[in-house]
Amino acid sequence: MQINKQDHKPENFKKNVEKALAQPDLKSIIRRTTDKAENKRAQAVIDFPEFEKARTQGQKIKDHTIKYMGHYLAEFEKHAAAQGNIVHWASTAEEASKIVMDICRSHEAKKVTRSKSMLGEEIGLTHAFDNSDIERIETDLAEHIIQLAGDPPSHIVWPAMHRSREDVIDLFRKFHKDPTYSEEIVDLVGSARRDLRSKFLSSDVGISGANFLLADSGSTCTVTNEGNAELTTTPPKVHIVTAGIEKLVPSMAHAVPLLRLLTRSATGAEITQYITFHNGPKRVNDADGPEECHIVLVDNGRTKMLADNMREMLRCIRCGACMNHCVVYKHIGGHAYGSVYPGPMGSVLTPHLNSLEVANKQTHACTLNGRCEEVCPVNIPLPKLLRSLRAQSWEKKYEPLTNRFFVTAFAQVAKRPALFQLVSRCSVIFMRLFSRKGWISFMPMTSGWTRNRDLIEPEASTFMHQYNKMQKDKKGVSK
Ligand code: SF4
Repeated sequence: MQINKQDHKPENFKKNVEKALAQPDLKSIIRRTTDKAENKRAQAVIDFPEFEKARTQGQKIKDHTIKYMGHYLAEFEKHAAAQGNIVHWASTAEEASKIVMDICRSHEAKKVTRSKSMLGEEIGLTHAFDNSDIERIETDLAEHIIQLAGDPPSHIVWPAMHRSREDVIDLFRKFHKDPTYSEEIVDLVGSARRDLRSKFLSSDVGISGANFLLADSGSTCTVTNEGNAELTTTPPKVHIVTAGIEKLVPSMAHAVPLLRLLTRSATGAEITQYITFHNGPKRVNDADGPEECHIVLVDNGRTKMLADNMREMLRCIRCGACMNHCVVYKHIGGHAYGSVYPGPMGSVLTPHLNSLEVANKQTHACTLNGRCEEVCPVNIPLPKLLRSLRAQSWEKKYEPLTNRFFVTAFAQVAKRPALFQLVSRCSVIFMRLFSRKGWISFMPMTSGWTRNRDLIEPEASTFMHQYNKMQKDKKGVSK
C-alpha cells in the first residue's frame, strides 16, 4: 500500500485498513517477505537447540536491567562521558529531535547521513530534517528506497517490504545519477552503492541508532547487514547516536546472548554481517573516526510504561518476528497501523507513544491467537498486554457507543445460560435466513465483515443443543 503521508496516523487505522484490504496484490507482496522470514526463523530455531534456554536468559537479562534501570543509566552516562561522548537526555520525542537538530545547526551542517533507526522515526527526525535546510540522506538500502519513494517505513526490519522489485527499478532509474538498466538485484544494489558513496564521504554529521547500550563501558552497539552504519558514523566529523533507554544492558556479556536471539528471530541468520561498538570520538593516534560524539538517550513514554505495568514491553529488542507471524499484519501490512511501530509490538507501543484514545483500534484488531508471544525471543506476553490495553480503553470509554452497547448486552446475555442458549438458537435461525449455498454475503449489522469476505453458514443447531441431544441419545442407548 502506498500511503498518503497525511493519512499515516494511528487515528486513521480503520480507514487505512479498508484501503489496504482493497489492494489486490498487497497481501502477496507482504507474504513474500514475511513467509520467508517465518521459515528462516523456524530453521534457525531448529539449528540452535538451546534457543528456548537462550530466550529465558534473554528475558532475565532484560528484566534485570529494567528493574535496575536507574542504576545502569547512571553507569552508562558515567562511562560514556569518560570515553569522550557528550550525553544528552530527552524526555519527549520533540526534545530529542530538537537536541539533534541543534547539534547539526551548531556545526553548520548542510548534509547528514543516517543509518536505519526506528527511534529516529519515532522522534520525528526525518520530518525535522525535511522541514529544514539540511539535506537528509538515508543510507540503509531499504530506507534509501522509501526515501526516494516518499513512503514511511512499513516494517521495523524491512521498511520497504511493501515495494516490489519493479517499483525499485523505476525509482532508481528516476533518481540515481548513474542508474543501472539491469533488473538483477546485484546491479540494483550497485546502483544504490554508486549513488550513496560520495554522499557518505561528504556528510557533515552521521546519525545512527543503537541496538544495545553497554552500561559498564559506555559503548553503543549497532547491528547491520550492509555496513552502512560504519560508513555513516566514521567519515563525518560529528556522530550522533539516538537510543531509547530500554536498549540498556549491563555489559558486553549480556549483549551477546541477546544478539544471538535478535539475528535469528529477525532474519533467521546466525549473526549479522556487521556488529560495531562505538566508543566515543577518535583518539589521538586513530586514523579516522568522528571528532565529536553525542549520545541522545530518549525516554518518550518508556518510564510511563514502567509505571503503567507495561514493563514487559521494554524487553523488546526490535526483531520484528511478532509482525512476521501476525495474521493481521500479513493481511494489512505496516502502513495501516499509522505508526512507526506496526504489528503486535506496535499495537502495544503506539498507545504509549501517542495516546490510547487515538490508538485503541489497533489493540482491538488483534485476534489474540498468541503466535506473537510464541515467537518473541524475550517472551513478551503481547496478547496479555493487548488485553490490558483493551480493558483500559473500555474503562476510559474510548469505544464507540454502538460497540459499548453490544458488548454490554452480550455480557448480560452471557451471564444467564438459559437466555444465552435461547439467543444463540434465535441467532442461528436468523443467520440461516441470509445463507446462500452455505455462505452469507450480506446480513444486517455485519457489513464490517461481509464487505470483505463471506461468513460461513452456522450449523442448524447450536453446540449446546447438539451436545445435550448427544448425551440424551447416549443415555437412550445404554438403557
Ligand atoms: S515484541 Fe518480541 S517479537 Fe516483537 S519485535 Fe519485540 S522482541 Fe521482537
